[in-house]
Amino acid sequence: MSLSGTLVGLTWFAASMLFIFGLRALGSPRTARRGMHMAELGMALAIGGTLLHHEIVSLTGIAVGLAVGALLGSAIALFTPMTHMPQRTALSHAFGALAAALVGIAHHGEHALALDLVQRSALSFEVMFGSLTVTGSLMAFAKLQGWLPGRPITFRGQRALNLALFAAIAGLALYAVLSPGAATQFHLMVLLAALFGVTLVLPIGAADMPVVIALLNAYAGLAASATGFALENSILIVAGALDGASGLILSILMCRAMNRPITNVLFGAFGKLAATEQGESAEGARAVQSTSPEEAALLLDGAERVVIVPGYGMAVSQAQHQVKKLSDLLAERGVDVRFAIHPVAGRMPGHMNVLLAEAGVEYDRLYDMEAINDAFARTDVAIVIGANDVVNPAARTQQSSPIYGMPILDVERARSVLVLKRSMSPGFAGIENELFHRPNTLMLFGDATKSLEHLTGELKAMAPGKSA
Ligand code: NDP
Repeated sequence: MSLSGTLVGLTWFAASMLFIFGLRALGSPRTARRGMHMAELGMALAIGGTLLHHEIVSLTGIAVGLAVGALLGSAIALFTPMTHMPQRTALSHAFGALAAALVGIAHHGEHALALDLVQRSALSFEVMFGSLTVTGSLMAFAKLQGWLPGRPITFRGQRALNLALFAAIAGLALYAVLSPGAATQFHLMVLLAALFGVTLVLPIGAADMPVVIALLNAYAGLAASATGFALENSILIVAGALDGASGLILSILMCRAMNRPITNVLFGAFGKLAATEQGESAEGARAVQSTSPEEAALLLDGAERVVIVPGYGMAVSQAQHQVKKLSDLLAERGVDVRFAIHPVAGRMPGHMNVLLAEAGVEYDRLYDMEAINDAFARTDVAIVIGANDVVNPAARTQQSSPIYGMPILDVERARSVLVLKRSMSPGFAGIENELFHRPNTLMLFGDATKSLEHLTGELKAMAPGKSA
């Protein structure tokens, strides 16, 4: 083996190790930052090693591509607010899958007749998954960005259309594998796969979007891995397989958290109620008990155990620093303060953990849903900060609800529930929340950061236990 070949092999091996250990470190909030740095270094090594490859004839085009990509990537990363991170992730998947699909199409055009059966199979697989991931991710982006309605978009015969498309794509892919010269069938397969990406994601409601994004992540990874097999490139095989497997595991975990069978996500959410219709019909002028920061401070003054439940509204308001101040103040006053983290709170997996970590909330105060749910019965005050769907009892009680079956945080079992939000507007699923009308619930209306500022100010002014 030539020196450059050995160097490429060594850097790719090191990059693969860094990806694996980086992924492992991402499993815990304590080591996640280190994991990200390891993965970044791995990616730098993978790219650097590839540039040493002896088959590269000119570095100019690659340098231009690198510069444009780095510029675009940095701009997107710097200017995307945390609340838009799922859309950004969906766009990244679209770009990654587009790269895989284009490489596959070009490779097929140039080398189809010289490839063996395994390489042709990998190539068809790559291009098929690549194409459907591009359009599927763009649909997910458009839904999350509000460019397309978030409700499931369904029509008669949709399931039959999806099945027919799938069968046609599989048939064309098989034909392209067995007849390497069949360029028309190959390109038709690419087009139908792109159409399948659209019809696959359109019927899925926005509340299921986290699973779709994780699933598209898996598809993009599988496409990259197949590219590796077609091009005999080991780093693509390893990185793609890691991406594909972790995306698939994440989608299964998300499905469990939202109680959606994976088949329902894969083949469209048929028979589901449009979320908005439900919300509109149920919403009436029912009474709620609203409160003031002064009253809320009195409530907290008498509390010994408090559980804070953050949700998407905390991210919108960027209230995490104020949340940290309140939790510190309560802890100083001898209150047992915990944070309850729902797996789909916010708009991306781990959203709340990231924000709370940024504000310096200690990891050992964060509890997963399963670990905290029993504690609500022994809690004096549950403070719900910009969370809605993840604390909606309809998930347990209303079979017609679009979130029926999704495990929720049992905040209503606490002695008192204090909800911080701006209005009676519904959450992401667009449905009314019975919790807000319960006798032990108090609504503190206003932007979360401002409400928390007032609340913390009032509590600070009180000697501990004044109202007990
Ligand atoms: P929700 O979206 O259900 O509710 C958020 C609440 O925050 C709203 O009711 C809103 O009410 C309130 N809010 C918004 N801005 C502010 C503000 N500035 N100050 C105070 N409150 C505010 O959030 P949850 O976290 O409870 O649920 C997440 C939902 O998102 C689930 O349905 C989940 O399936 C879905 N989802 C999750 C993803 C994930 O991976 N985590 C990805 C995509 C979707 P108001 O306007 O009255 O203030």
